[in-house]
Amino acid sequence: MARIRLGISSCLLGERVRYDGGHKRDRHITSLFVSHVEWVPVCPEAESGLGVPREAMLLEGDPGAPRLVGRESGRDYTETVTGWARRRLPQLAAAGLRGFIFKSRSPSSGPADIPVRPAGDGPGGQGKGIFARMVMESLPGLPVTDEERLARPAAGESFIESVFVYDCWLGSVAGRESARALARFHRQHRHVVMARSVSHLRRLDELLARAGNRRVADLQRCYLEILAEAMAVEADRDSHARALADIAGGLVERATPAERHGLEAAIARFRRGSVPPSLPRLLVRRLAFRHEPSMLRWHYLQPPLAEARLRRRHRSVYENIT
Ligand code: SF4
Repeated sequence: MARIRLGISSCLLGERVRYDGGHKRDRHITSLFVSHVEWVPVCPEAESGLGVPREAMLLEGDPGAPRLVGRESGRDYTETVTGWARRRLPQLAAAGLRGFIFKSRSPSSGPADIPVRPAGDGPGGQGKGIFARMVMESLPGLPVTDEERLARPAAGESFIESVFVYDCWLGSVAGRESARALARFHRQHRHVVMARSVSHLRRLDELLARAGNRRVADLQRCYLEILAEAMAVEADRDSHARALADIAGGLVERATPAERHGLEAAIARFRRGSVPPSLPRLLVRRLAFRHEPSMLRWHYLQPPLAEARLRRRHRSVYENIT
C-alpha cells in the first residue's frame, strides 16, 4: 500500500535542530504513523542557515504579519527565513503532501496561538509561526495540526480523517476540471462535512446548486476553501450522532422493525457515550449493504482502510496520556 506523505517539523522526529542543539522527539507520533507515512521533515530555522545552536526567537509586531526576531538581540531574522521558505515551498508543493504536523509554540513552525510581542505601543496578541503561515497560504486545503492537538482524541482523529479526505480530493478532483468529479466527491463526502459543520455543508450545497456556467476551476477553488474551513472544525459525539442519524433516516423505511429499533438504540447509546462510534457505524453499514450498497462508497461510512487503522491506533497510542 502506498504511504501517505506528511510534512513534519524536524525536531519532532528527533533531529537535533533546535536553538539549543536539542530535539523534541515525539514517540507517540512516530509509533502512531509507523509503516503508514513517509515523512518530509522540515526545520525552517536550521535549513535557512541560522545555525545550531542559535539565538532563541520570538514573534513581534502586528499579529497578522509579525516579524521573527532574536529574543535577546532583537535582530530581525524574518527575511532570512521567508526568503528561504519561498525557495523551499515549490519543492514541498511538488512532494504531494497530504498534511503537516508542526511543532506547537514555535515562532517559526507553530500553526496557531503563538504569542506576538507588541512592538512599541502596538497591541501584540497571538499569531501563526512565520513558516507555518507560508505553508498554509501556499498549499490551501492542506490539513495541518501540531503535536499537542494531535494528542487530543477528537482533534487527532479529525486530523487523520482530514488527511484522507484531502488525499481523495487530490486523487479524484484536483486538476481535472470536471464538474461531475466535483459532484461525485461532494456526494461521497457530505456526511464527513456534516459531522464537522452543518453550516459549511449548506454553503457547499449552495455553491454547487448555483454553479450555473461558472468555470469548474473557479468552483473547485471555492469548494476547497469552504471544505478546508469545515475540516478544521473538530467533530464531536453530538455531531457524529447527527451525521449517523441523517444517514439512518434514508435507510430505516426499508429496514425491518428490529433493524430500525437496533439502529436507533445504538445511535442513542452512542450519543450518551455508552458505546463507541464503531457500533452504530457498523449497523448503518450493514443496512446500507442490504438496502443501498451504493452508500458504501461514502467516505463517512467506509473510510479508506489506512484511515480506519490509523484512527483505531490513535485511540490505543494516546489513551494513556489524554
Ligand atoms: S520548532 Fe521548527 S524551527 Fe524550531 S527546531 Fe523545530 S522544526 Fe526547527
